[in-house]
Amino acid sequence: MSLVKWTLHELQERLTRGDVSATEIVRAYFLRIGVVEPKVNAYITLNEQEVVLSEAGALDDAMKTWRKTMPMMAMPIAVKDNLCTEGVPTTGGSRILKDFTPPYNATVVDELRAQRCFLMGKTNLDEFGMGSSTEHSAFGPSRNPWKLDYVPGGSSGGSAAAVAADECVAALGTDTGGSIRQPAACCGVVGLKPTYGRVSRYGLLAFASSLDQIGPITKDVRDAALMMNVLAGHDPKDATSADVPAPDFTRSLKKKDVKHLKLGVPREFFEEGLDPEVRDAVHAAVSVLEDLGGTTREVSLPHTGVAVATYYLVATAEASANLARYDGVKYGFRARPYADLADMYRATRQEGFGPEVKRRIMLGTYALSSGYYDAYYAKAQAVRTLIRRDFDRAFQDVDVLVTPVMPTTVFRLGDRADDPLQMYLSDLYTVSASLAGVPAMSLPCGFSHRGLPIGMQLVGRPFEEDVMLRVGRAYELATDWRKQRPLIR
Ligand code: GLN
Repeated sequence: MSLVKWTLHELQERLTRGDVSATEIVRAYFLRIGVVEPKVNAYITLNEQEVVLSEAGALDDAMKTWRKTMPMMAMPIAVKDNLCTEGVPTTGGSRILKDFTPPYNATVVDELRAQRCFLMGKTNLDEFGMGSSTEHSAFGPSRNPWKLDYVPGGSSGGSAAAVAADECVAALGTDTGGSIRQPAACCGVVGLKPTYGRVSRYGLLAFASSLDQIGPITKDVRDAALMMNVLAGHDPKDATSADVPAPDFTRSLKKKDVKHLKLGVPREFFEEGLDPEVRDAVHAAVSVLEDLGGTTREVSLPHTGVAVATYYLVATAEASANLARYDGVKYGFRARPYADLADMYRATRQEGFGPEVKRRIMLGTYALSSGYYDAYYAKAQAVRTLIRRDFDRAFQDVDVLVTPVMPTTVFRLGDRADDPLQMYLSDLYTVSASLAGVPAMSLPCGFSHRGLPIGMQLVGRPFEEDVMLRVGRAYELATDWRKQRPLIR
């Protein structure tokens, strides 16, 4: 089997044993990228092979004398292109940043690089993370490695597609309302959105700051735990970073069952609008978890029905403020010619932003305007508190919630691109956990009749990613979904 098929922990074991060298890893991955990237378009910017090879050569020399390797050493990692990388262009999927090269790394990038992993490149996304299909990218859509005329999900579609197509061993994504979980589900890989505050947001191009989180997209649950070990922790550079000690996330994986855990199935997530194929796959997964010793019970999250509306008010309001900084002065792109300063601002934003970003700036500005603030923004904040309380109440009775990730199976490229409301509705099951700030992850639980992956979502108590990971790992070991791989070559 080619080494690009291995999970991160398998690759790591082989590197530690000396079965494979860092140079061999880099060569194999660039070869793979050369073959599949023209079809998938997972990357906006690829790192130069020569640069990575020279890093690998130095590592191989050093490893002759080092006994112990670091967990991420020589691992080929891809990073979503809304995370700052020193000296490597960071576009946010937007024309307005097409010439922007940050002078510093996001904290998460620093943490990974400190372990001597390789940065393979920067992955495609919906502009500034706004979308659910990666079609709203200024650099063309990414494609689903399982079927190229289907979307890979979004907004971290490039990261999920890169992992699924073996163009990296693991990737970083970001999730504001589902953007890690949803593309992971579409591409048949694992995606974890941590508790708000668990992972530093320093160096992330802000979309909606009270919702944005960075997390791993990986080939299996064990890899997600390994990545979380590197990413989690307090960062003084991020004022919203939580000063909560991070456990060793692989410890809870030792238990290969879910005995003594109570699993909640929220009634409102299985009502009208849920595709029967998705429903059946998630129900079957719940039965597997029962066989593994978990007790399940129905719970209620009564405000689920208003979560999408609440999310699109809060997220657009914050986006309209966050995106004010792109004015043609501070970063990247400036439209020319222009008559005066105001004209320069206008022309730059007009040409630099895509239609979805403009739509959201207008929606958000409207929701925040003085005549409408109370009716929309203040109301949405109040409802957000109710949504958070729904989760608090549910977690008094159960440890982890099990739900679908998306109401439908993966859709075709172009199917929803011109219908923003349909696109927003695909976030139905992911936005609640974002509004509540609780951790959630997506993992494969089946396939549609078209052969496209279906994902299930696990939602945990704040800062209990480890419990969620234990449930996910037990499930994945009891099933074979992760062994099925896209046939793209
Ligand atoms: N699809 C949602 C949106 O468009 C979520 C995006 C995200 O999580 N970045 O806002």
